[in-house]
Amino acid sequence: MQLTRKGLWAGIINEFREFLPEIGDDAIVTLLEGNTPLIEMANMKDIFGDIRLLFKFEGLNPTGSFKDRGMTFAVSKAKEDGAKAVICASTGNTSASASAYAAKAGMKSYVLVPEGSVALGKLSQAMMHGALVLQIKGNFDEALNIVKDITKNYPVTMVNSINPYRIEGQKTAAFEVAEHLGHAPTYHFLPVGNAGNITAYWKGYKEYKDKGVISSLPKMMGFQAEGAAPIVAGHPIEDPQTIATAIKIGNPASWAAALAARDESVGVIDSVTDEDILEAYKLLAGREGLFCEPASAAGLAGAIRMKKEGVLNDGDTVVCTLTGHGLKDPNMAINSCPKPLKVAADTKKILKAMGF
Ligand SMILES: *Cc1c(COP(=O)(O)O)cnc(C)c1O
Repeated sequence: MQLTRKGLWAGIINEFREFLPEIGDDAIVTLLEGNTPLIEMANMKDIFGDIRLLFKFEGLNPTGSFKDRGMTFAVSKAKEDGAKAVICASTGNTSASASAYAAKAGMKSYVLVPEGSVALGKLSQAMMHGALVLQIKGNFDEALNIVKDITKNYPVTMVNSINPYRIEGQKTAAFEVAEHLGHAPTYHFLPVGNAGNITAYWKGYKEYKDKGVISSLPKMMGFQAEGAAPIVAGHPIEDPQTIATAIKIGNPASWAAALAARDESVGVIDSVTDEDILEAYKLLAGREGLFCEPASAAGLAGAIRMKKEGVLNDGDTVVCTLTGHGLKDPNMAINSCPKPLKVAADTKKILKAMGF
């Protein structure tokens, strides 16, 4: 099957309509998400040799994370069903996305976030988009259980990734990678939190293979943070810990689907340490000019580990999804760099500081 795109990008529902569940024209709520760049690695050849490595920069979506792909569909479906309000539990990005799309749809949004574990940028987004932000003294997993409870009995639509339309929208990222490359990558690396995204990518790749757009499938390579790695451990983690707040999840909703993606693709779900994540985070910014949030670097950290362990080979095409933008978490960025120099407003002193 040959695909051709014409004209200006119209958001993932309009662009991939034939591959998505039906939805009425009037219901579509879009901020023109998707169409994010797939950027070739330039300055990591010392690490990756002759591997072709590319970064799918999902931080360039309208609210700064891949969550927008699923949210456009979840909120559009909610609108079609006549919903007046949406609710989610979130480590931050889902709340930013849900509140933005709800604002566009003219709906109320309620977001439950773990107090103290949400990056500043994400919190500011939910507040600006007019969500009722409820900070709970508890973690993400507890917040999600409360949301499930509420939506059983009250007229608010849950837009967490257990909402099937979230996965449907998110699978379009795999479509874009396949169209950009003209084939599937050999490996697709990404961070795993609630495990919706790995589920969605795998669904997307399989559907494009079924339609004949691509002829092979990638191995799915999901990476959790070591202190929040329930899938690796094989049991829920009561008190998950990691600096990568977007994947600080102890009991992933899409656990079974993530295992299926791993097993069907003959891939891997493993973990990386916070130190590995921070190293990859700094490499991306310092060498490639790509500023992603810490959790987003877990995929690259995993790829570095797999390269060291001899799993990746020269000639492989490796895609890493960078799930969210670095500006989401400015505190983490500032705290992981040397402090700016304080210098007098004096040319000589400044030249000296510059090393001239
Ligand atoms: C949500 C999120 C993740 C985790 O994705 P899951 O679908 O929950 O596995 C990773 N990185 C960022 C930036 C996120 O917002």
